[in-house]
Amino acid sequence: MESTLTARDRVGVQDFVLLENYTSEAAFIENLRRRFGENLIYTYIGSVLVSVNPNKDLEIYSKAHMERYRGVSFYEISPHIYAVSDNTYRAMRTERRDQCILISGESGAGKTEASKKILQYYATTCPVADRMSTLRDCLLQSNPVLEAFGNAKTLHNDNSSRFGKYMDVQFDFRGAPIGGHILNYLLEKSRVVHQNHGERNFHIFYQLLEGGEQDLLSKLGLERNAQKYQYLVKGCCPRVSSINDKNDWRTVRKALTVIGFHEDEDLLNIIASVLHLGNTQFGEGKNGENQITTEPQLKYLSKLLGVDGAALREALTHKKITAKGEEMISPLSFEQAVAARDALAKAVYGRAFTWLVVKINQSLAFKDDVYNSSKGSSSVIGLLDIYGFEVFQHNSFEQFCINYCNEKLQQLFIELTLKSEQEEYEAEGITWEPVKYFDNKIICDLVEEKHKGLISILDEECLRPGEPSDISFLEKLEDTLGGHAHFVTHKLANAKTRKAVSREEFKLIHYAGEVNYSVNGFLDKNKDLLYRNLKEFDMSPLCNHTPWRFDEALVRHQVKYLGLMENLRVRRAGFAYRRHYETFLQRYKSLCPGTWPNWQGRLADGVATLVQHLGYKPEEYKLGKTKIFIRFPKTLFSTEDSLEAR
Ligand code: ADP
Ligand code: MG
Repeated sequence: MESTLTARDRVGVQDFVLLENYTSEAAFIENLRRRFGENLIYTYIGSVLVSVNPNKDLEIYSKAHMERYRGVSFYEISPHIYAVSDNTYRAMRTERRDQCILISGESGAGKTEASKKILQYYATTCPVADRMSTLRDCLLQSNPVLEAFGNAKTLHNDNSSRFGKYMDVQFDFRGAPIGGHILNYLLEKSRVVHQNHGERNFHIFYQLLEGGEQDLLSKLGLERNAQKYQYLVKGCCPRVSSINDKNDWRTVRKALTVIGFHEDEDLLNIIASVLHLGNTQFGEGKNGENQITTEPQLKYLSKLLGVDGAALREALTHKKITAKGEEMISPLSFEQAVAARDALAKAVYGRAFTWLVVKINQSLAFKDDVYNSSKGSSSVIGLLDIYGFEVFQHNSFEQFCINYCNEKLQQLFIELTLKSEQEEYEAEGITWEPVKYFDNKIICDLVEEKHKGLISILDEECLRPGEPSDISFLEKLEDTLGGHAHFVTHKLANAKTRKAVSREEFKLIHYAGEVNYSVNGFLDKNKDLLYRNLKEFDMSPLCNHTPWRFDEALVRHQVKYLGLMENLRVRRAGFAYRRHYETFLQRYKSLCPGTWPNWQGRLADGVATLVQHLGYKPEEYKLGKTKIFIRFPKTLFSTEDSLEAR
């Protein structure tokens, strides 16, 4: 017994619902720290998996590990991303219902790695449908391609995804993957033309310059030197020690072939033309007009983009306006021309990315003719890889969108957790009284309610004739939402809190905390949903990716903004612990003379004998049809990991 307790002290609890002091954030973090110290990066909150990024390779992702998690119940083995993958897969198959895995966290938390591990798990362990083995390759190969074009080195993460991703994997009635689909959103196009200090442009540019064959570079009019390209020098960071652009180039080319890009010429033409656009300069002509001063760039651009040189020259230095029904051409100032050039580069790159996703989706598409018999009975597992709650010193439209999305996910989580709890208690014939918890629906309504919600007001203000502005939008918000408990502005705040909100901000009291949003740019950004200004990213020194360091401030920040304590409270609202009778007896029978070495009678009676022996009072547990439910379990039931760890 004593050695078990020591082991438990060392590894903490593998499910936070077993934490004695479950309302204490300090206890929560201490549990994460202990486990991390023992190489245990995963911990559950019920069916939610919390993961701490180790930033070093762990020997826990081998094929043998995958095998260990196949068909095994959540609680019988150490928490793992494979357990989540397997449980989701089995739920899809037994319930014949679509499933979804949501992955959330700050940049660098390990979301994309987690989604790749889930895909690898399915690719390795699922049966392969007839003539579908190429689909598996396409699923796996879509990642290096998307990462080359959609990921970049940032201060937080050397391989940071600069787009959101929702991926569906479709399975047939036998559980074999038969198709997939990717939905991308919010690509950070501003990175194409500007990078902050210490950051890079999208990987593909450096890969092409480092790895591209000399013939290819000559054809594209490029030099093998990233320093020559204005769009690649802004961050002063052409090389990254953890990245081998040359090798990655080969991987990406191969992956492009697998997903069906046999002719990737157009794609590379676009990448090269973005670099030429960046080097396109403007200067004053003989008559004081603004003109392009870099002729070679213009020549390559018209060749690579397949457009007429003169038309391109005019488009980059003039604008068309319609006045009194007449179309007129007016020259652009130097600043306007630079802005137009950058806008074109972003648009071209954005389109190339969208096209790439379309091609990937074609390669993943469920081929009806090949496999039509299963169409009616297929199910889907979705993987959502999004940004977690964001709060910087300066927050704007982007943070508003991301945080609203997280608010919705939190609501979904609460609904689903409570619903599934309710269903389980009903199925097991257990009566329970719901316990109060904070429902964030009030904040979702504040944002999304028709006509009176924040988004409706914003949309209306964007469409209103006259001169709508960010400030008039703020005034509308004050008029409509003034009395709301979760909405504050400078005018609405009392003298004590006024300082906390400036005149151009509104404050939302989210489930995860308070955030001030500056209204500057809200109207413009709302009109162009894809606009994402990197300048507004705070450059605070978060996610320092030293291998195997438990960064307490970073962990605490995420525990708060992912709403983990809230999640735990919801989970603990009913019966925190439950196990099938058989599993429970098997594991703990040795603790009670009455059940050791074997219980002969009804399983429920054996479990009752055992828990009574352990000192539980009748009101502290309930016996369901197949499971025991314990309201506040003693930490004794958390020794699974100590068995694993020894
Ligand atoms: P996010 O998508 O949340 O921004 P990533 O998934 O790209 O973060 O992870 C950032 C980096 O952290 C990865 O490139 C990898 O080096 C490391 N990392 C993430 N998860 C793991 C893991 N499970 N094991 C080891 N290293 C990891
Ligand atoms: Mg990512």
